[in-house]
Amino acid sequence: MKYITILGSTGSIGTQTLDVVRSNKDIKVVALGAGSNIKLLEQQIREFKPEVVSVWDEEKAKQLKENIQDLDTKVVSGMEGLIEISTIETVEIVVTAIVGMIGIRPTISAILAGKHIALANKETLVTAGHIIMPLAKEKNVKILPVDSEHSAIFQCLNGENEKEIDKILLTASGGPFRNFTREQMKHVQVEHALKHPNWSMGRKITIDSSTMINKGLEVMEAKWLFDVDFDNIEVVVQPQSVIHSMVQFVDGGIMAQLGTPDMRLPIQYALYYPERRYLGGDRIDFASLGQLTFEKPNMENFRGLQLAYEAGRKGGNAPTIFNAANEKAVELFLDRKIAYLEIPEMIEECMKQLQFRNNPSVEEILTTEQETYEFIKERWQ
Ligand code: NAD
Ligand code: MG
Repeated sequence: MKYITILGSTGSIGTQTLDVVRSNKDIKVVALGAGSNIKLLEQQIREFKPEVVSVWDEEKAKQLKENIQDLDTKVVSGMEGLIEISTIETVEIVVTAIVGMIGIRPTISAILAGKHIALANKETLVTAGHIIMPLAKEKNVKILPVDSEHSAIFQCLNGENEKEIDKILLTASGGPFRNFTREQMKHVQVEHALKHPNWSMGRKITIDSSTMINKGLEVMEAKWLFDVDFDNIEVVVQPQSVIHSMVQFVDGGIMAQLGTPDMRLPIQYALYYPERRYLGGDRIDFASLGQLTFEKPNMENFRGLQLAYEAGRKGGNAPTIFNAANEKAVELFLDRKIAYLEIPEMIEECMKQLQFRNNPSVEEILTTEQETYEFIKERWQ
């Protein structure tokens, strides 16, 4: 039996993690955490019978408690609740499938408690990678990537020597606006941006994929996971999303991982690493696929990707400013308060104006997040 906690169980990655649990009989869900969708959470509780669940919203937590009076499941809430379910003694793996920097503290607490991390919550690694990676090493804890590209790289590195990596070729679909002109991009509406050509995901990451800011976050995520310089991480647009990423070694040899776009594979791989289990679903038929194509990313139209490289290279709290500005800008775009191209503009302005801090502590990261939100509020709202 494997004992796990899922943070963000009602989301896209969370529900797919539960699909993986459902089709394998040897994983026990000890705890679940969610934001506010207590209806779905209640169904999950009735099916998976966790010992504890955490609901971010205190009112919703109270309501849930009433709704599940007939069960033994304990209900906790807030940041304390997230930390409690991340540190339960019997749990071996914490799946971090919440969205945003809110994941930093629970992830660090889980590592301190010796839990392996199946990491989907990339914003946490982008902003606090310099704290998380050394801490994981010290605690002998594995950071198992769930993001499909990083899982692909992780799979390509199986049995290889990380010192012999020449570069990481991080693939990107290019999103729905790959062939748009700048003029067309000015007029992008929420509905367009929420339609990803190949993947079905949560709202924030779907917008991030359309701006290619998701790829920018993934460049920073790859830096931390695989300890490579930004000069050695190249984004390759591969519109069919069949190659999930590649690694080029010093001898010029390249390893790639391919598959249909199905997040259950990287989730299951992280949960059972290094074992592979059967997973149902479509298989690639190369003859009907016909061709795979490759392009360079357009750094002018997708300014956010360029800014991500800049933030990553600068280091310190620059990735936090980048990420916090993006989190807020995406929220404002989804609320139809700003135009599509204002997303990278806001990030750029925040990166110019906000105070740089080197080697920030968790407190300084969270302070930077607040400063970024306040700056945006004063300047744009
Ligand atoms: P989502 O919006 O579908 O789900 C987010 C989950 O987090 C929900 O369960 C929500 O209730 C929970 N949540 C939000 N705020 C919370 C809070 N304050 N406290 C507790 N729970 C909270 O998002 P998603 O698409 O599943 O993405 C989750 C993470 O995984 C993101 O970091 C994303 O970048 C990453 N990721 C997702 C995919 C994908 O295919 N969806 C692929 C790669 C990486
Ligand atoms: Mg990805």
